[in-house]
Amino acid sequence: MEKKGKLRFKRILLKISGEALQGGKHFGLDSSTLISLAGEIKAVHDLGVQVAVVVGGGNIFRGTRNEGLIVDRVTGDYMGMLATIINSLALQSSLENIGVYTRVQTAIEMQKVAEPFIRRRAVRHLEKKRVVIFGGGTGNPYFTTDTTAALRASEINADVLMKATLVDGIYDKDPKQFSDANLFKHLGYMEAIARKLKIMDLTAVSLCMENKIPILVFNMNEKGNIQKAVKGANIGTYVS
Ligand code: UDP
Repeated sequence: MEKKGKLRFKRILLKISGEALQGGKHFGLDSSTLISLAGEIKAVHDLGVQVAVVVGGGNIFRGTRNEGLIVDRVTGDYMGMLATIINSLALQSSLENIGVYTRVQTAIEMQKVAEPFIRRRAVRHLEKKRVVIFGGGTGNPYFTTDTTAALRASEINADVLMKATLVDGIYDKDPKQFSDANLFKHLGYMEAIARKLKIMDLTAVSLCMENKIPILVFNMNEKGNIQKAVKGANIGTYVS
């Protein structure tokens, strides 16, 4: 285990979208992306940081927005929540493959597959240096996994919600469309809400604001970014 330096964050909640797990593919899981993500998580875990993860499901099923499928909104949302559990199990296997102890806890009970979500147990696992992966979203339709991340971060008293994205942080306009887009280094919660930013839904930001959980939006494709952030480097956009 690496020597512990002074850490800015000691307990983090990492939000990984489903799309981030599909790598260059159009659907499903990409093994090299999972291997690299597991390595990044192990690196911060080895520093002594307590790591909880919320995974999305958009790479497998995204509510009723999956074209052509005849499912009602609530059924679609449950299918989306189940997709996040598939992703959680994939991440769990990738982490265990490199020797990181993990637990998956699900919001929809599925005890042959994983533990149910029990807040106190989740905190205990973190204290015992297990990475805890929260699957199944909030367990309720009409929510997102960003809101799940804000909720779980609040429940476990995380020092920060780290939202992994494919860009460097929050910009004043879409950096993929506009070459003169400016990256914000810091934003207030209210400013993030007022700008109706696409990077995170309003429910999630409001929940973080109410519970004083800062949000760090960062690029997950830059190797070492999670480590840099926990050590205090000024990466991405910090919403507080
Ligand atoms: N979902 C839900 N309730 C939750 C979390 C997720 O109904 O608490 C459903 C919703 O349909 C969502 C899908 O699961 O579209 C997948 O989650 P999300 O779109 O947030 O995943 P991501 O974009 O992070 O891959």
